[in-house]
Amino acid sequence: MKEFGYKNATTITEALTLLDGQNARVVAGGTNVLPYIRSGKYTDCRLINIRDIKDLNFIKEDSDRITIGACVTISQLKKSKLILEFVPALHQAACVFADPTICNTATVGGNLASASPAADTAPALLVHDAIVFIKSLNSSRSVPLSEFFKAPGTTVLQRNELITHIEISKQKNSGFIKLGMRKSMSISIVTAASSVTLNDAGIISSCKIALGAVAPTPIRAAHTERFLLSKKPDDDTLSALIKATNLDISPIDDIRASADYRREVTPVMVKRAIKLALYEHC
Ligand SMILES: Cc1cc2nc3c(=O)[nH]c(=O)nc-3n(C[C@H](O)[C@H](O)[C@H](O)COP(=O)(O)OP(=O)(O)OC[C@H]3O[C@@H](n4cnc5c(N)ncnc54)[C@H](O)[C@@H]3O)c2cc1C
Repeated sequence: MKEFGYKNATTITEALTLLDGQNARVVAGGTNVLPYIRSGKYTDCRLINIRDIKDLNFIKEDSDRITIGACVTISQLKKSKLILEFVPALHQAACVFADPTICNTATVGGNLASASPAADTAPALLVHDAIVFIKSLNSSRSVPLSEFFKAPGTTVLQRNELITHIEISKQKNSGFIKLGMRKSMSISIVTAASSVTLNDAGIISSCKIALGAVAPTPIRAAHTERFLLSKKPDDDTLSALIKATNLDISPIDDIRASADYRREVTPVMVKRAIKLALYEHC
């Protein structure tokens, strides 16, 4: 018989105090924690609910950044005008995330902390240079999202730490696309996000590409980015990025798709993500 305690924290300090030095685990939306309990991944611990902490639930802007509290839900991302305008890739990721019931509960902090290679918010946040802000009772630190994931299900987070918020750069030209067995309610086979800037001559002057479900963690695609830089984003360029993209990925066979299939479709997904960022359609 598993024994679970449950405590509702109403402030960040209370949550951190409850987490400190005890066999405790954070629960936000609980959409992953419940399956963890059922499967035996979590046993005999105290669950600290952080969903009622107001300081973890906000979306705000300053001149060049958007800040999102860790407990902002996927539905809130979908409805936010700031996200739609300044972080379009994240808006698009939220729009193809699960079903409305899950979206109303699942949080962005929980999506990142779960560290699934297929986490839908991750590629979108990666192309917006997201920084994850983390607190424990006695310290605070910030980690670029590109350094946050360590392995499937593993991040830099310690057991006594909480993600408090995520900061992202504003960029109007970004896009996200997901390939799954269905449009939503399915774990991604491949996801791609891009953020692209062209100079006056229509040449790519800055380019960020991120991919999900094709490596042990969500990744930035460095070879693809280098290949695209200083080129025109025309059909010839976009069709030639296959070689570079294949250097970025290390897909595996799983129940959703084979590694070979993922290698075939990833360059197509990158191409579509770039078109979405530049022309809002693909
Ligand atoms: C039916 C179904 C469909 C799904 N569809 C999708 C999908 O389309 N795309 C997708 O990406 N995911 C999907 N998921 C997975 C899941 O819903 C998401 O990963 C979700 O964002 C997790 O957030 P949560 O708030 O529910 O996390 P929780 O379940 O509360 O927590 C998950 C993990 O994160 C930790 N955690 C949570 N918040 C914090 C924090 N602030 N600081 C530190 N640690 C924290 C918890 O301790 C736990 O280890 C689906 C799940 C289900 C059950």
